[in-house]
Amino acid sequence: MNGPVIVGAGPAGCAAAIVLARENVASLLVDRDAEAGDPLCGGFHSWRTIRTLESLGIDIQALRAAPVHRAVLFAKNQTAELALPRPAFGLSRHRLDSALRRRAEYLGVQIDVDTIRSVEPGAAIGRSRHHEGNGLFLATGKHDVRGESRPRNASDPALGIRLRVPADAALSRIIGDAIELHLFDGGYAGIVMQDGGYANICLALKKSLFEQANKDPHELLVMLSEEHPRFRERLPEGWREQRIDSIGAVPYGWIAQHTEEGLYRLGDQAAVIPSLAGEGISIALASGTMAARYWLANGSAGSRAYQAAFAARARRPVMFARMARSIAEHPVRASTGIRAGRAFPSALRLLMHLTRIG
Ligand SMILES: Cc1cc2nc3c(=O)[nH]c(=O)nc-3n(C[C@H](O)[C@H](O)[C@H](O)COP(=O)(O)OP(=O)(O)OC[C@H]3O[C@@H](n4cnc5c(N)ncnc54)[C@H](O)[C@@H]3O)c2cc1C
Repeated sequence: MNGPVIVGAGPAGCAAAIVLARENVASLLVDRDAEAGDPLCGGFHSWRTIRTLESLGIDIQALRAAPVHRAVLFAKNQTAELALPRPAFGLSRHRLDSALRRRAEYLGVQIDVDTIRSVEPGAAIGRSRHHEGNGLFLATGKHDVRGESRPRNASDPALGIRLRVPADAALSRIIGDAIELHLFDGGYAGIVMQDGGYANICLALKKSLFEQANKDPHELLVMLSEEHPRFRERLPEGWREQRIDSIGAVPYGWIAQHTEEGLYRLGDQAAVIPSLAGEGISIALASGTMAARYWLANGSAGSRAYQAAFAARARRPVMFARMARSIAEHPVRASTGIRAGRAFPSALRLLMHLTRIG
């Protein structure tokens, strides 16, 4: 059967293509890159992400992901540590996205390389040609296509910054099987070990902090490390020589409530959960599988019902992640929150549960 055009071969687009292919629907996956890149991401894969990946035929352990069993939180003078409810993993996005593409191709999905400039129900208008299908799935993630931009209303928007460092023995020992969250005034850094023995240091910070550091990511890390000794301990010698990736104006908290007939919005184009929760990939996979099921039941006419149902499903995790972010980014609230978390670890575990997609 002739399927939809899926724009974007990230987790959301690949999940949709895999579910459709298993039902013998031939979708066309279009991505601007011939090979999976390594998008800026914390690279923390929650137990919910792992479960959906397994259902799509991806075994994350076979990809040599690093197991994560604990969460450690740091605010100015406070630390809390707790066991995760279920095992999670650290894995680079290059490895995950490559595995998803390979799985889709194995099931017969065709991947075309083109940069899509604009979309309409049933067609993607690319730099090199038009791609047509029975409906269109928009899964371009962090990147908006012309005419479909998500609103960015925040006066001080969040920026993402990532530094990946080859971890020496001392750093590997410090991080171990933990996801560390270092809470700053105006943002946080997440640190996790990944495949190949790398430590992935990913920050989401208010733009104003970046401006204080003269818009220089290296200067910004120096500024933060001077204020936060425990963060400084995690930056190994020679970190200044490493490349720092950055991404601007992440529309945290945004949820697509509506769509046009024939246009399904997936992944970050459907809902953007604050990254502190470590659930964005899970949401992307969940939206991809759900969109595919709505398409299988209703064809391109199912887009509006899908979008409304997915918005309702994403509401709770996004709302609680926004709440967690507003506590984490405020030094007094963060210290109080960590003290409370130490006294009542079950409350922190409940928050982890409430920020997972159902
Ligand atoms: C700072 C930060 C840290 C994060 N950390 C985590 C974390 O630790 N754990 C977690 O679960 N989530 C995390 N997230 C969220 C996660 O990265 C996203 O939610 C997830 O990548 C969304 O997947 P997606 O498939 O929607 O989009 P993407 O992963 O962005 O994939 C989009 C695909 O579309 C392609 N594309 C884009 N534009 C075009 C175009 N015009 N034409 C053709 N192709 C195009 C791209 O090449 C890419 O392959 C983080 C986010 C940020 C900002």
